[in-house]
Amino acid sequence: MSEQQIYIDGKFYPKSEAKISVFDHGLLYGDGVFEGIRAYNGKVFLRQEHIDRLYEGAHFIRLKIPLSKAEMAAALDESLKVNNLENGYIRLVVTRGVGDLGLDPNKCPKATVIIIAASIKLYPEEFYEKGLALITAATPAVPAEALNPRVKSLNYLNNILAKMEALEAGLVEAIMLNHMGYVAECTGDNIFIINGNRLITPPVSAGILLGCTRNKVMELARGAGMEVAEENLQRYDLYCAQECFLTGTAAELIPVVKIDGRVIGTGKAGDKTKELLRLFRKFIAEY
Ligand code: PMP
Repeated sequence: MSEQQIYIDGKFYPKSEAKISVFDHGLLYGDGVFEGIRAYNGKVFLRQEHIDRLYEGAHFIRLKIPLSKAEMAAALDESLKVNNLENGYIRLVVTRGVGDLGLDPNKCPKATVIIIAASIKLYPEEFYEKGLALITAATPAVPAEALNPRVKSLNYLNNILAKMEALEAGLVEAIMLNHMGYVAECTGDNIFIINGNRLITPPVSAGILLGCTRNKVMELARGAGMEVAEENLQRYDLYCAQECFLTGTAAELIPVVKIDGRVIGTGKAGDKTKELLRLFRKFIAEY
């Protein structure tokens, strides 16, 4: 197999030669935005949704992306093609670029654009059948008033601290609460519960990333006749829900069967959750 090709600022480099400056503010300050995107059957999945979110986040942090949205879409497609990738994961990163050692972003004349198209290590199928156990992390979500989690910024340290708590407990995900004590999201996934015919997920005001998978699953649920609501949730609501699941680009849709030692619903992947997973996979297959 030929070496993986990485896109940096308009050119492709073999993985071993793909390097950026130590003066890049993405590295020095986490100053930048990114996206994690899937490719299925040779197509970039939810391409426009990811690009729109990236450009919105960049606008918020006053970062000018040196490509039009159409050029960015073409660069994503090209990254798949160059790497001969049908199914995989694409990491798109835009940093403030090379500057000096100070914070001043004005010293960075041009943003750096990086696209890494890779094969993906899927979660084991067992997760989808048996479901996940979660804990609530002691690390709270970053308040939206500080750095709005809607911005998928290169500052993931807070989520990493919560992820460490999950790993310490022998688990792969943890729930983060916001400063009000309401459920926000997980370290790399959005969270949902189901009661009867109602699908409920925290609202954007809880301080969450508006997941592309989240939005698509809400749309599919509405199409399937479910009532979809965005409501603040307490841990009580999670513990006593009939069903619970997570959504994310890498995870797709994973059932949750235990939280902080409490069994959720029947303790098995819920029927409605399984139906939504089926609908989501059907949507992918037809994309
Ligand atoms: N929340 C956080 C904090 C995330 O990092 C992610 C993964 N990008 C998600 C939610 C899920 O978003 P998406 O469905 O767009 O992958």
